[in-house]
Amino acid sequence: MSLIKLTAIEALELMKRGEISADELTRAYLEQMDRREGDLHAYLEISRERALDDAARPGADGGPPLAGLPTGIKDVFCTRGIVTTCASKMLEHYDPVYTATCVQQLIDAGIVILGKTNMDEFAMGSSTENSAFGPTRNPWDLQRVPGGSSGGSAAAVAGGEAIWALGSDTGGSIRQPAALCGVVGFKPTYGSVSRYGMIAFASSFDQAGPITRTVNDAALMMQYLTGKDPLDSTSVEHPHGFSIPVDQDLAGAKIGVITKLVREGTDPDVESAFETAVEAMSAAGAQIGEATLQHLDYALPAYYILAPAEASSNLARFDGVRYGFRAAGAEGITQMYEETRSQGFGDEVKRRIMLGTFALSSGYYEAYYGQAQKVRSLIFQDFERAFAEFDFLISPTTPTPAFELGEKADDPLSMYLSDICTIPVSLAGVPAISIPCGVTLQGLPVGLQIIGPAFSGKRVLQAARSAEIAIGFDKVSPLIEEDV
Ligand code: GLN
Repeated sequence: MSLIKLTAIEALELMKRGEISADELTRAYLEQMDRREGDLHAYLEISRERALDDAARPGADGGPPLAGLPTGIKDVFCTRGIVTTCASKMLEHYDPVYTATCVQQLIDAGIVILGKTNMDEFAMGSSTENSAFGPTRNPWDLQRVPGGSSGGSAAAVAGGEAIWALGSDTGGSIRQPAALCGVVGFKPTYGSVSRYGMIAFASSFDQAGPITRTVNDAALMMQYLTGKDPLDSTSVEHPHGFSIPVDQDLAGAKIGVITKLVREGTDPDVESAFETAVEAMSAAGAQIGEATLQHLDYALPAYYILAPAEASSNLARFDGVRYGFRAAGAEGITQMYEETRSQGFGDEVKRRIMLGTFALSSGYYEAYYGQAQKVRSLIFQDFERAFAEFDFLISPTTPTPAFELGEKADDPLSMYLSDICTIPVSLAGVPAISIPCGVTLQGLPVGLQIIGPAFSGKRVLQAARSAEIAIGFDKVSPLIEEDV
């Protein structure tokens, strides 16, 4: 039996029955990291000793609900005792004094932390190439990107270097890398998971969520991630909670295809994998219709005003004084600020800070930020109207499969376009999942996005489980295939 192919639910079952131990499971993942991490670079920090200690805890096998599950944590989450860099030189040796609430909840439920996964610096990007510590590679093709910004988490799960992982999604950073790596990624409704201890990018968008091998694993992790936290005033008690979906078909589900997202520059192989998935869902009893969202064309421009505006404010704290990097040799405080920020941030982060500062500057505030907020409301209303007609909306998760390393690195606009299908959902704050739905002719995975109304996460996961059964995707990356 290959331990690095198991789902979290299967592993829990085997541990409960005493057929495998948490120690064996953890060692299997650490061994795969020894074999593959040189190619993949999915991790920024591997907490080997701690993982083995956690796995050896009394009750690790079959004790607490998630006991013994080897987990990757995106480096955007503060972890006391494990360096947290957000993939930035600015925080290169930062040892946080506290642990993010959602990570603590997983620790309390018994997970084993394997390490901190690579990401785009401050979660800004779609390829993990913006990491200050080098890119992650895609386990399906090492010349290609894993997507981003949670590229390390997605590559770890797809490459057998974590049974599941925690990611964060601001405009698509869980769903897009999950799609490009052939795994499942769920972004909950804004407010479902505490943001306390998650290093802020755009606070009105940021949400944590699971990257897993199956929909049921995502539902399992959600049960322990969600909850109201007094330390995050935007967090709420999820009205319906989460539970493990049952195996059933899609009979009676009204599903709207967002056709506008299928046509705009979509790769033909992605389009045909998506169409095949739609047919499978229809054969499983779903009533498929066409959904029109009127203001979709404005989603990307609105996001690229609002997210940088929030980022410019959030990142003001990295000033060389309170914590993190400080440039040496400056004369006076102004020069110290300037040099610290010039040297500490990478190009994409600086670009966002400049865009955001401009959009918020006096005289331009109404024309940019104010307008973009209005567009955000219109898009929210578009979704509300569509959900009056449909239970769920679907689209491909991304317009193309994984692209080559370097292919879009010098072209920020084309990089921004890779989130065209995920960003509208983020503006509306509603839940969405990406599940694998096929492969291209070149053998690269394609993702299907299923979107639901606010706080319908439990139903979205149920629909995704039914779609997963209907589609029957059963491929794994060659990196796992070769090693077993
Ligand atoms: N790729 C998008 C961006 O660069 C989304 C990133 C994210 O969701 N963190 O902003």
